[in-house]
Amino acid sequence: MTLAHSLLRWYRKNRILYPWRQTNDPYRIWLSEILLQQTRIPVVLKYYERILERFPTLEKLGEADESEFLSLWSGVGYYSRAKNMLRCAKEVVARYNGRFPSDALLLEQLPGIGRYTAGAIRNVCFEQLTPAIDGNIGRVLARLGNIHLPIHSNEYIRKAGALYRSMAEGAKPSEFFQALMELGEQVCLPQPRCSVCSIEPHCLAKRKKTADRLPVRRPKRTAERFHWYLLLLQKEAAFYFVQNPERGFLKDAWIFPDLLTAKVLSEKQVQQKFREIWGIHLKNARCKEMISHTVTFRKISVLIFQAEEYEIDSTRGKWMTPGQLKEHPTSSITSKVFSLATSSHKLSNPVF
Ligand code: SF4
Repeated sequence: MTLAHSLLRWYRKNRILYPWRQTNDPYRIWLSEILLQQTRIPVVLKYYERILERFPTLEKLGEADESEFLSLWSGVGYYSRAKNMLRCAKEVVARYNGRFPSDALLLEQLPGIGRYTAGAIRNVCFEQLTPAIDGNIGRVLARLGNIHLPIHSNEYIRKAGALYRSMAEGAKPSEFFQALMELGEQVCLPQPRCSVCSIEPHCLAKRKKTADRLPVRRPKRTAERFHWYLLLLQKEAAFYFVQNPERGFLKDAWIFPDLLTAKVLSEKQVQQKFREIWGIHLKNARCKEMISHTVTFRKISVLIFQAEEYEIDSTRGKWMTPGQLKEHPTSSITSKVFSLATSSHKLSNPVF
């Protein structure tokens, strides 16, 4: 029995019928792929349903108001991806009459669509065999072919792509792609479960006992340390928020006025920076709380400041209650700080 036969037989028995496995509509496949690149499956399920309920077709998404879509996306993170989705939807409607093209080059020219997403759409929606290699499928291929090359290198992509094509020969591209994906999610995990793997006889890494050393990854970056100063200004039930317009970190999210630095700042320096960046004049600003937060390779100390007296240029931001913040794109750390500030545990004791 060929590898494809064994794999597909296993897949038909064991697949999980996620909603995106029950359609070949390019809009739905594209949406699921962008979400899956971003977050875990339980979260994807929630956002997938929520977005489709509000925007059931690509045309509807193309007409979406950006701030409404960004607030629906709130909690997924990386707002630039959400913005690219809107640009992509508009472009597909304007240039291709609302239908995604099937050509790989045309797909890859669309905003936010890279080689992997284009490959996923071509396999699932158009039955065009295309190696589509993300971290999950990349791990499976590195083991099946015993490929000891860094997983993001061009040479790895070339070898893994050739292996993908040769293994998929004769299989239905949509099914083969989804089966490889499922194998990576259920069996060929970072800690491989070779004893229950139905394609084990075809796996070179298993034969050579190298599975737990594959794939080869880039050496880990050491975590960078940052200090993130947040300013909480409260007026009755509302807090003052600003939108982060340019900086990559939390771009476009509504956040407390902030400073992100690699250095520890004195209270005087913090006051001066808030004036320069956000036009906020503070008197007696004090650090009331410190939280540790880790974002990928960044370790962040969050220092929450409050001030007794202040003057603000309120055209730079807006006062919002917790309910109003929910209508805007924000970040999980902002929500965390917000609930801390509005819970019974008030930020009352100066940390230093
Ligand atoms: Fe992965 Fe092990 Fe199966 Fe090979 S035998 S594909 S390493 S789970």
